[in-house]
Amino acid sequence: LVMPLGQAISAWTQLQTGLGALTRIQEVLGLEPEHEDRPERPGTGGSSAGAPLLELDGVSFRYPDGTPVLNAVSLRVAAGSRVALVGPSGAGKSTVLALIEGFYPVDSGVIRWAGTDVRELPRAGLRARLGYVEQEAPVLAGTVRENLLLTRPGATDDELWAVLADVGLTEVVRRSPLGLDVLVGDEGVLLSGGERQRLAIARSLLARPDLLLLDEPTASLDARNESLLRDTLAAAGADRALLVVAHRLSTVLDSDEIVVLDQGRVVGRGTHHELLDSSPLYRELASAQLLV
Ligand code: ATP
Repeated sequence: LVMPLGQAISAWTQLQTGLGALTRIQEVLGLEPEHEDRPERPGTGGSSAGAPLLELDGVSFRYPDGTPVLNAVSLRVAAGSRVALVGPSGAGKSTVLALIEGFYPVDSGVIRWAGTDVRELPRAGLRARLGYVEQEAPVLAGTVRENLLLTRPGATDDELWAVLADVGLTEVVRRSPLGLDVLVGDEGVLLSGGERQRLAIARSLLARPDLLLLDEPTASLDARNESLLRDTLAAAGADRALLVVAHRLSTVLDSDEIVVLDQGRVVGRGTHHELLDSSPLYRELASAQLLV
């Protein structure tokens, strides 16, 4: 009796873990904003020619508990471009992504998508154009295939292998004879924090978003994982825009623009080399990471 009982408990625990992860994934993919969508108003859905894909214009925000976080933040992400957000811990970087995802409404200022105030756009439509990979990206207790097909159930095996190659996970998955059908976790392939995030990036890329929002893990990555993340970002940015919250400057040095946030304000913007000249805070971050 003890053996089957143990197995049943283990299966139940796995199911709970799986359901928890699934709920989290659905929260991120699943179009459930914390605030109500405003009704669509006729005549406001069109995009303005020449407008950036995404624009934050003087955005200020405090959390519902009153914590003030962002103060008149402006930034633009052009289609196909790569923008990085850097700054000390607590500067408000992840909050910028949460606002773009629509988890909270802004207090003042505007977020525009292709020139249109996002409050005028149906939230589900916008979410479909955005990929969002959090720091602690949830991985489903299932197979690699199940994890990937969540965002595009009709993807072919060739497409799955191609996206795994983009994120540097081919070897890890090929190590098992089960390939795409290997379980993720104790009973299959054990993934490190960096690998879990790259699997989540693969899942997002399969949905072919116009803009990928990525919150880099804060946990230290070893040199190999760091360079794999750099390669992943290069592959991910090949045909879409990227907005990356970066904790390691080394992964975003070649961004089109790096925006420096400090205590909720933009205190510098430019390329890596421009910022080394113009931003004392950026120089400090760069020298702390041994880049200068
Ligand atoms: P890190 O580099 O450490 O990830 P960050 O720059 O991404 O930091 P945020 O996570 O955006 O910073 O947090 C900015 C501020 O907002 C912090 O003071 C944080 O404590 C606060 N904060 C974040 N999330 C919430 C929340 N859900 N409710 C209340 N305050 C929050």
